[in-house]
Amino acid sequence: MNHKPLLAFLLGIGMLPASAAETVVAGVPVAAAAVDTRGVAKTLDSLFEGLILVGGAILGSRGEFALARIEAHAMSALHAVAAAGEAWHQVETMARAQGDLSEAMYALERETEDALLLSDYARSRELASRLLDTARIAGVKEYEASAHGYFGILARRQGDLDAALNSYETAIGLLADSSNDFRKALILSNFGTVLRDRGDFARALELQLDALAIRERIGDRLETSLRNVALLYREIEDEATARSYFERALASVDRLANPETYAPVLGSYASLLNDIGEHAAALSAASEALQIDLALGNRANQGLERLETGRALFGLGRNEESVQQLEGALEIGRELDQHEIVSRALLHLAEISQVRHDSLRARGMIDEAIAGLEKALLRPQLVQAYAVREKIALAEHDPEGALRFLRRYAEQRELLLGTRAGRQLSDLQARHARAEAEKDLTLLQKDNELQNARLEKQEIEKRLGLVALTSLGLALLLITWRFNGISRLNRTLRLKNSEIDQQSKALAEANSRLEERASQLYQAAITDPLTGVYNRSHLREQVGRMLATSIAARRSLAVLVIDYDSFKQVNDQLGHLFGDRVLVEGIAAIRQCLEHGDIIGRFGGEEFIVVLEGERALAAVGVAEAIRSQVQESLSRLPTHGIAVTVSIGVVRLADLPALEEASVDALFDAGDQAMYRAKAAGRNRVALFSRAMHPIEELIRGRDPTSQ
Ligand code: GH3
Ligand code: MG
Ligand code: MG
Repeated sequence: MNHKPLLAFLLGIGMLPASAAETVVAGVPVAAAAVDTRGVAKTLDSLFEGLILVGGAILGSRGEFALARIEAHAMSALHAVAAAGEAWHQVETMARAQGDLSEAMYALERETEDALLLSDYARSRELASRLLDTARIAGVKEYEASAHGYFGILARRQGDLDAALNSYETAIGLLADSSNDFRKALILSNFGTVLRDRGDFARALELQLDALAIRERIGDRLETSLRNVALLYREIEDEATARSYFERALASVDRLANPETYAPVLGSYASLLNDIGEHAAALSAASEALQIDLALGNRANQGLERLETGRALFGLGRNEESVQQLEGALEIGRELDQHEIVSRALLHLAEISQVRHDSLRARGMIDEAIAGLEKALLRPQLVQAYAVREKIALAEHDPEGALRFLRRYAEQRELLLGTRAGRQLSDLQARHARAEAEKDLTLLQKDNELQNARLEKQEIEKRLGLVALTSLGLALLLITWRFNGISRLNRTLRLKNSEIDQQSKALAEANSRLEERASQLYQAAITDPLTGVYNRSHLREQVGRMLATSIAARRSLAVLVIDYDSFKQVNDQLGHLFGDRVLVEGIAAIRQCLEHGDIIGRFGGEEFIVVLEGERALAAVGVAEAIRSQVQESLSRLPTHGIAVTVSIGVVRLADLPALEEASVDALFDAGDQAMYRAKAAGRNRVALFSRAMHPIEELIRGRDPTSQ
C-alpha cells in the first residue's frame, strides 16, 4: 500500500487555511481569488486522496467512487482546472470499471472542458473522440452531439471554418429530439460564432437570439450569450446596442463564481472599447481579463486578451509596449496553431510597422496575415487586412497594387455591408418591439437568480449528504468550515421559493412573447420591405437549397425571371410613388398564380424571380403565361394614363442548362435573364423559354403583341 497520499492527507489538515496568491495577480481581485482557490484546491486535493484511501478501506469500491466524485466536483467548483481534469479522469476510470457508461461520459465531458480551458487541443481532441465512441456504444445521442460540438470548437480555433460548420450541423441534427436545453444553447451559440466569422450576420444573430432565449429560460451562462449578441452588434457597427449588451453581460455574471466566463466578456468588451477609441478603458478591461486568464492557465484566451491590450496600447501611443503584447499574442497563436490569433496579431503588428515607416516589415507581416485570413475566410478581419495592405502599397508608391487591394477591400466590405444594411433595417423595426421585451426580461432575470440559488442549494445538499456517508469527523469539520453560509442561504431560499411560484406564470408569458419577437426579427431580415417577397440574399440561399435537392432527387426545377416593361417611363411620367404602387399590385397579381411550394423573391430593381419545383416546374411555361396575363389584367385597372404596364418573362428549366454538373444559382439566373431579354427584344409583354442554342425556332413566344394595342 502506498502511504504517500495518507501522509499528504494528514499534512493537508494542518495546511488548510493557507493561501498563496502569486505576485502576478496582486491588485486584481478576481484573478487573486482564482489563485487563492488554487491554494485551497491543492490542499483539498491531498486531503481527498487520503479520504479516498480511508473511505475505500471502510466502504469498499462504491464509497471510493462516491468520494472521487466529490473531489472532482470540489476541484471544479474551485476552478483548479488541471486538478479537476485529473480528478474527472479518475472518476471516468472508476466508472468504466463499474460498467457505468453514463457516469463515464459525464466525467469525459468535464475532462474535455478542462482540457479546452487549458488550450490543450491534442488532448481535447483525444477526449472528444473517446466521448464520441462511448456515446455511440451507449447509444446516447446527446453525448454524441456534445462530442461533435467539441470538434467544432477545435476546428474553428485552427481556422477550419467549414469543418466547424459541419460539426455543428451534425450536433444540431443529433439534438433534434432532445429536451436538453443546456446543450442546445451551447451548440447554437458556438454555431452562431462561426457564422459571424464568415460574415453571415443575419443567421448568426438568429442563432444567438435562440441561444439567448433558451439561456434566459434556464438561467445558465447568460453572460456568454449576451456577449455573443453584443459582438454581433459590434460587427455591424451598432456601438450603442453592442455596449448595452456588454453592460448587461457584465451585470449578470457572478465574477467570483465564474471567472472563466467573466474574463471573455471583459476581453470582448475591450475589443469594442478599442473600436470606438476608448483605449484607456479598453486597456484596463483587457488587462484585468488577461490577469484572470493567466491565473486560470487559459492560453488561448491569454492570446486574445494580449491582442486587445496591444491594440489599446497602440491607441494610447505606447507603441513599444504594444509590440510586446502583440508579439506575445503571436507566439501563443503559433504555439496553439490558432489562426485567428496569428493573423490578427500580424495585422496589428503590420499597422505599427507601417506607422514607423518600415514598409518592408509591414508588408511581410500583412501578406502572411492575408494568406491565413483568406484560407479561413474570416471576413471581418479580411476587410481590415486589405485596408492596411492598401495603405502599405500606397506608401511603397505602388498605385496598381493599392488599387488591387482597394478593390478587394471594397468587395469584402460590400459583402458584409449588404448583410449589415439589411440587418440594420430590420433592427430598426424590431427595436421598438424589443424595448417592450426588456421589461419582461427584468422579471425573467430575477427569476433566473432565484433558480440559480435553488440549484446551488441542491448541489450543496447533495455534496453534504455524500460527505456525511464517510462519517469521518475531520471531513465534517472541513465541510462545516467550507460551507458555513448554507443555513443562511436556506432561510433566504425558503422566502424566495414562494416568490418563484408567483412569478413563474409571468415568466412563461414573457418567454412566449420573446420568442415571437425573435421570429418577427427573422422575418424582417429575409424580406423586401416594399413588396414583402424574399429579399435578394434570402432568395439566393433558398434557390441554392432547392437546386441541391432537385439535382440529388433528379427532380425538375424552373426559374422565371420577371421584369416590368418600360418601367422607367412609369416613374418618369407618373411619379416614383405611383411606380411603387404598380410594383406592389403586380406582385399581388403574380401571387394569385402561385401555389404552395413555389417561391418568389426580388432580384433587384423591378426584376423579380419565381422558382417552381417538380410538377410545377414541368408546367413552367404555362405558369409564366398565366402570370403575364394576370399582371396585364390587374395593372390595366390602374390609372396609368395610357401607359401599358406589363411584364416580360424569361423561363429556364434546370434540364435546359448546357451541363448539369455546372448548374449553379448564378447559371440559372443568368439563363433566365437571357431568355427575359429575348422576350424584351421580341416586343415585350411575352414569355420566352431559354434553350441552349437560343435559336429563334426553339423559342416559345406567346402573348399579345404590344404594338397591336
Ligand atoms: P425595360 O422594358 O427594358 O425593362 O425598360 P425599363 O424602363 O423597365 O428598364 P430600366 O432598367 O431602364 O428601368 C427600370 C426602372 O425601374 C429604373 C428604376 O428607377 C426603376 N425602379 C427600380 N426599383 C424601383 C422601385 O422600388 N420603385 C420604383 N418606383 N421604381 C423602381
Ligand atoms: Mg424593366
Ligand atoms: Mg430591369
